[in-house]
Amino acid sequence: MKEDLEAGKHDKIVTRFPPEPNGYLHIGHAKSIVINFGLADDFNGLTNLRFDDTNPLKEDQEYVDAIKEDVKWLGYDWDELRFASDYFEVMYEKAVLLIKKGKAYVDDLTAEQIREYRGTLTEPGKESPYRNRSVEENLELFERMRNGEFANGEKVLRAKIDMSSPNINLRDPVIYRISHATHHNTGDKWCIYPMYAFAHPLEDAIEDVTHSLCTVEFEDQRPFYDWVIAECETESKPRQIEFGRLNVENAVTSKRKLKQLVDEKFVDGWDDPRMPTISGLRRRGFTPEAIREFVKATGVSKGSGVVDSAMVEHFVREDLKLKAPRTMGILRPLKVVITNYPEDQVEMLDAENNPENEEMGVRQIPFSREIYIEQDDFMEDPPKKYFRLFPGNEVRLKHAYFIKCEDVIKDENGNVVEIHCTYDPETKSGTGFTGRKVKGTLHWVDAKHAVPAEFRLYEPLILDNEEEAADGEEKTFLDNINPNSLEIVQGFVEPNMKDVKPQEKFQFFRHGYFNVDPKYTTPEKPVFNLIVSLKSSFKL
Ligand code: ATP
Ligand code: MG
Repeated sequence: MKEDLEAGKHDKIVTRFPPEPNGYLHIGHAKSIVINFGLADDFNGLTNLRFDDTNPLKEDQEYVDAIKEDVKWLGYDWDELRFASDYFEVMYEKAVLLIKKGKAYVDDLTAEQIREYRGTLTEPGKESPYRNRSVEENLELFERMRNGEFANGEKVLRAKIDMSSPNINLRDPVIYRISHATHHNTGDKWCIYPMYAFAHPLEDAIEDVTHSLCTVEFEDQRPFYDWVIAECETESKPRQIEFGRLNVENAVTSKRKLKQLVDEKFVDGWDDPRMPTISGLRRRGFTPEAIREFVKATGVSKGSGVVDSAMVEHFVREDLKLKAPRTMGILRPLKVVITNYPEDQVEMLDAENNPENEEMGVRQIPFSREIYIEQDDFMEDPPKKYFRLFPGNEVRLKHAYFIKCEDVIKDENGNVVEIHCTYDPETKSGTGFTGRKVKGTLHWVDAKHAVPAEFRLYEPLILDNEEEAADGEEKTFLDNINPNSLEIVQGFVEPNMKDVKPQEKFQFFRHGYFNVDPKYTTPEKPVFNLIVSLKSSFKL
């Protein structure tokens, strides 16, 4: 881009992000968005959002709306909003131009025959018997194709290039096909539609895109891209440059597969928090900043490696560390009665909202005779080095007092239902007590004032990206669905969490970062999605 600017090829860089509206955007698209919008910004250029809607069968307004929302949410604003389908007339004229130049012909071969005639990497292709139709005949047939006189698949328009080219993409590729289908934008106006490889360079040229940035699988298409630009005699001469796809471990990045997960109800929608879609990541609690920083850190190269999912999580923690208030939540409650605490007393304790960001201030949380702790934080018969609560052991309650386990109450089946403790008023947090030390610090919520809450804990939806079984037996990605991808637990949060708003984010002490789910949260009960746990093994 820099070279092209310096060579005086362009006054201004223009890029485009060109999704097909046949599904929601995913984390892979975020890379294309960051690259297209980001590079144009670097050069003070422009970026269009262009819907590449040349396939009437799979496209839908729902997807158009969702894509616009997601691009905006990621923090980008397009200069122009374009639809490839608005250019159908120009594309048709360009096809007619090719026919007139003897560079395109109508072919009657079936799709199957065209494939057979195409040849292989080691063998040249064979010319179609219809290849040498006259310009007049081709013009007439192509017009009749447009007029709807033929059935789907009966005829196609092909570029006339070279059936023995070492690049198979240049062996007379199909540029128009018949499809009697209603298009989401043009309705029933057309029954012939341009093929992607022909349409895309024209779209770029029409929009004066200077650099058409796309993923590496289009590298072999570049000669045809250049052929279209040259033979169609477009005024503007866009240049295609490829970059490596972004693949993230355990994340399906194919709209087709994601749609299957939605259609077959493996998830509760495109925005299910387990989905690697932008809307899923948003509902899960990822922030645009974290996604952008992550994508930038993966770099731009020709290689398409698989990125460790710990890397994405690292950027979320980094972003939320100073932004998300700390709070306490109990996921699997166990009641603790503090037997020496006065029956009707409630005291308000100071709790810092974020020790790493003092500006976030201090809140007050109630403390009284009965509290909840995590079931995990008590063991009747603990192994060595267990520093939490067990009979006779003393621990610190975060923001409150030391408590000591005195008694364990069980039901008739021997299950622990309640713990009886005593507290030491001398040990109150913030008073500078140094009398003795304890090794464990537990989080808790006051039982009388606690707000019931639901926690949704996630594991990857698909366990690996391998689609082939070890013995070579065919498997699909659905065989790798993780049966434990969602665990729902019912617990409690602090009383000041009663009125949390959808998409608010918190760090639950000792648990991780959580987002208030916009779909399931009700005025009575907040629902929290686990974004990421606190621990990370990731090193940049
Ligand atoms: P899918 O196979 O999921 O439908 P696609 O590439 O067909 O993906 P498009 O809507 O055509 O989806 O994509 C819009 C742009 O996003 C394209 O330029 C495409 O190259 C880019 N893109 C898609 N997936 C990735 C990815 N994993 N990494 C980087 N860029 C991507
Ligand atoms: Mg596509």
